[in-house]
Amino acid sequence: MATHTPLRQMAAPPRDTITPATMRAWVLNNPDELELVTKPAPRPGNAEVLVRIDAVAVCATDLEVISQGPPALINGGPPFNQAFTPGHEYMGTVVGLGPNVDEYQVGDRVTVEIHAGCGRCKRCREGMYTACHNYGANYPGNDKGHRANGFTTNGGFAQYAVNHINTLVRVPDSMTDEEAALVVTAGTSMYGFTELGGLVAGESVVVIGPGPIGLLGAAIAKTLGANPVILTGTRPDRLAIGARLGADFIIDSTAEDPVEAVMRLTGKGADYVLDCAGTEESVNQAIRMTNRGGRICLAAFPHGPVKIDLAYAVQNNIYLYGIRGEGRSATHRALALMAAKRFDPTLIHTHTFGLDDLPEALRHARDRVDGAIKVVVKPQQ
Ligand SMILES: [Zn+2]
Ligand SMILES: [Zn+2]
Repeated sequence: MATHTPLRQMAAPPRDTITPATMRAWVLNNPDELELVTKPAPRPGNAEVLVRIDAVAVCATDLEVISQGPPALINGGPPFNQAFTPGHEYMGTVVGLGPNVDEYQVGDRVTVEIHAGCGRCKRCREGMYTACHNYGANYPGNDKGHRANGFTTNGGFAQYAVNHINTLVRVPDSMTDEEAALVVTAGTSMYGFTELGGLVAGESVVVIGPGPIGLLGAAIAKTLGANPVILTGTRPDRLAIGARLGADFIIDSTAEDPVEAVMRLTGKGADYVLDCAGTEESVNQAIRMTNRGGRICLAAFPHGPVKIDLAYAVQNNIYLYGIRGEGRSATHRALALMAAKRFDPTLIHTHTFGLDDLPEALRHARDRVDGAIKVVVKPQQ
């Protein structure tokens, strides 16, 4: 008698799937008031996995969210007193799978990008999911599927988080947890230069501001074949790290006018300027140091209206474009360059703390204590 074979065998759950009922997580009460609590652990839904967070980097935008609120938006409003967990630059290990997920397995090491677009708006359909028209519109009764962990949904200052599979990037064993937590930062610079900018080898690039995005931006630009790569800023210690990451020239803008320096080094100005400072002074410097027909990527959030020399930009056919995160799976390409050891992103990782010490980690990042650049928290330690 023939044995009936089912067309599809129901897979037994892998032995090491973890279904924690609760977890330790930081939540944001009033502005600047974080509290470490025990709260229900999230459960992965369709197309989602549960990630055990192994490392989460502190970003300047986390500091903004915790103090001011925007760009975080929870239940359609400010992110305060809603048991919201911030933190968006994390990596970890897949420990649970939602229904029908076979793209990842339990045990996979992954790093994450921030945005999972709704998949149904005009921008998502174009692949620009970081500019999703339904950003923040994911509260009960109006859930269009958009997720931005650490901004519109719970993030990584916790033991676990749930991620859409489209936000995951596999991490090779050769890469440390701390290094993998920097992929989204590198991916942001990558997206600005390549997908949004169209940078090709041999073009000149200036990066203004040696913060994490700027420093990895200089590294990415060099790796992509930009020539020359010029980094400007006011902190000699950070500029020196930029030189080690690949900048051909570093300009201390307290010692030399950066616009004059760029003109001297490039002749007619730079093809691309990545502004990571976001001040009135830096945006105007960017306009004046870009050559005719060149492009300026605005990667920092100014704190108020900025007065710029728009006539100069118009008369010189200069393209200005903003960027808010990593887009078009640029994290995959940034990780590929990092995995190939094309530059050493660990040069910007300066401090590590445990989950209980998050306030101290934030203080190091905010006040740049002891030369802090990228501060990493390891929630499992
Ligand atoms: Zn960030
Ligand atoms: Zn969308």
